[in-house]
Amino acid sequence: MAMLSLSTPTKELYMVGPTYAKRLNKLNIETAEDLLHHYPFRYDDFSLISTINQLQLGKVVTIQGEIISCQNIYTKYGKKLQKAVVADQTGQIEAIWFNQPFLTRTLKEGLPISLAGKVDWFDRKPALISPEYELIRTRYPVIPSGARNLMKRIYGAARLDPSSRSVGTQDDSGWNTIHTGRLVPVYPETYGVSSKWLRSRIAPLIEKLIPKTPDWLPQEIKEENNLIDLRLALKEIHFPNSQSEISEAKSRLSFDELFLIQLEALKRKQNWQKNKLTHAFFVNQGKVLELINSLPFSLTNSQNKALKQILDDLKLKKPMNRLLEGDVGSGKTVVAAISMYVAYLNGLKSALMAPTEILAQQHYQTIKTLLEPFGLKVNLITGSHKSLNTKYQILNTNIIIGTHALIYDKVKLDNLGLVIIDEQHRFGVEQRAKLINKGKSPHILTMTATPIPRTIALTLYGDLDLSVLDEMPPARKEIKTWVVPLEKRLSAYHWISKQIKKERCQIFIVCPLIEQSDKESMKDIRAATVEFERLSKKIFPDFKLGLLHGQMKTKDKDKIINDFRDEKLDILVSTPVIEVGIDIPNATIMMIEGADRFGLAQLHQLRGRVGRSNKQSYCLLFTSTKDKENRKRLAAMQKYISGFKLAEIDLQLRGAGEIYGTQQHGFANLKIASFTDNVLMEKTSIAAKKIIPQLNQFPLLQEKLKTYTIKLIEPN
Ligand code: ADP
Ligand code: MG
Repeated sequence: MAMLSLSTPTKELYMVGPTYAKRLNKLNIETAEDLLHHYPFRYDDFSLISTINQLQLGKVVTIQGEIISCQNIYTKYGKKLQKAVVADQTGQIEAIWFNQPFLTRTLKEGLPISLAGKVDWFDRKPALISPEYELIRTRYPVIPSGARNLMKRIYGAARLDPSSRSVGTQDDSGWNTIHTGRLVPVYPETYGVSSKWLRSRIAPLIEKLIPKTPDWLPQEIKEENNLIDLRLALKEIHFPNSQSEISEAKSRLSFDELFLIQLEALKRKQNWQKNKLTHAFFVNQGKVLELINSLPFSLTNSQNKALKQILDDLKLKKPMNRLLEGDVGSGKTVVAAISMYVAYLNGLKSALMAPTEILAQQHYQTIKTLLEPFGLKVNLITGSHKSLNTKYQILNTNIIIGTHALIYDKVKLDNLGLVIIDEQHRFGVEQRAKLINKGKSPHILTMTATPIPRTIALTLYGDLDLSVLDEMPPARKEIKTWVVPLEKRLSAYHWISKQIKKERCQIFIVCPLIEQSDKESMKDIRAATVEFERLSKKIFPDFKLGLLHGQMKTKDKDKIINDFRDEKLDILVSTPVIEVGIDIPNATIMMIEGADRFGLAQLHQLRGRVGRSNKQSYCLLFTSTKDKENRKRLAAMQKYISGFKLAEIDLQLRGAGEIYGTQQHGFANLKIASFTDNVLMEKTSIAAKKIIPQLNQFPLLQEKLKTYTIKLIEPN
């Protein structure tokens, strides 16, 4: 067996193996280090240890004793329950579990056991109902020997002297039981991976790995910010002895998270400024105005403002590096198009990269319509257009639009003056870099519809300048949003039918997300197909429906979208793929199935597919959830239309340390820190600025930043 290290893959870890390693991947856990940094989101307080004779009804306690008996019992209703009798020196009590027949194999007579849970009435006696349990004999770490420890083992094993806080030694570590008799960590879980399972895998890692884990944070930063050692923090976040240990561990680990993000951004900025010089564009005001005047609308104030900021950047010899942030539908594309026109006027090419084919297609159409009349040649490259003679196209183009097919080596872009990246968070740092490196320091404009509050954007993208479109084009009606519970489903379908007939409008129906994952899964596709059949046959037999999902051939996808655009289809049923992209003004109803399964940012993106004309648009959120958090999210959708407001609410609802799991369009994956913590943002910003000029004096930190960068590069 190879030496255990932070980078050991989970499948090689003790008691993990390939099956569990796969499950852990769903939680973004791939190495021993990831597992150590899989933090609990709350703790069960089982630290009160009681003797059996002092148990009180309703109290949550831990008792420790010996198993007298354990058996399966069949109730008169045919249910199976497990009953164990446990005794200590003061008395005995029953513990009851339901439907866990395997327990009798583990809980053998005579074994010392620790049980934690609430004391309740069962069968006219006080009992522990479904308590957490662990055999003390197999607890981790190994029970210290000696009479003193034997006593502790039976009465209050977990209560070793909390003042001895050295890390990694068995005797003083302050935790002997891991599932009972203490503050017990509860983790974000996934199918087949319970908190109990996680605890018993993380505990040995703390024991064996932590002594080998160097603390990479410079001492002076720790002192100035009153932070504990990393090793201690890791021990305390998983197996704390008190609430104050939890909070000091949280302080340290959340500091790390924001500090690294900021340091990383500063490093990028440093590299950027080392960059060579670029073309300073000449901006021909007259020609730009001519283009603007040709538009079917006038620009909003914030479009004008952003455009001015961009054009001012382009005039400089230093390459622009700007983020254009604007809610869905705020009109980023036209701003991008005007910038590309200026590049053209300077004899240079522009490249626009979009995350999906649908989106690339659409940009292509829009920009072609806009700029071809001014003599520009616009071309499209996506994965499926590979067979075309790309070299020829590129030689003869002024603007090249595409998916990440643009970054293929064979796509050579000479004379590249401006690179635009749409929905930039969907690309990895490396993908972006590849495109940018095709030119000689081109100007760069990245665009995002993720409504990141300004302070957060400045933290996350500390290397970028920021323009914000905080104003929607006028003459839009507010989209009316309704949450549709189960019992109103039929009347909603009925209403939709009437709307199609009356308004001649078109409908999006988005099927639920079956698997929480960034990519569309086969399950999602199957569910959408089934739903499509059902809707076609049972609900909307009078209308023409189309189905769209990610596994379809590009040709078929294009056809469906074009049919929908040409009003040959009334209803487009799709997996959540249409989230990014499509602009079809005549579609005025967005119906989302299983809306509770989506995050607020996603719902907002989906809703942004409608409301693109001056007709009244609607968004129907179908749900059967009773979950309070989910209902709050949906209620927020009903109440607010602004993406910025919703982003704020999203942060509040999820709160610090609650931003777990896969996030389709969330912020950077913060595990424990919170972007709403302004004090911490400030502190970490100061620390990062202080360290960056002397970074090479801290090799451990440099090393840490390297592995951290690798994680960022993986597209999310
Ligand atoms: P997004 O910022 O989401 O990329 P788009 O650029 O796709 O938004 O613009 C959404 C729609 O709004 C498009 O149909 C576009 O033509 C239209 N639009 C853009 N700017 C204006 C404006 N100033 N006035 C009216 N409509 C506009
Ligand atoms: Mg867009």
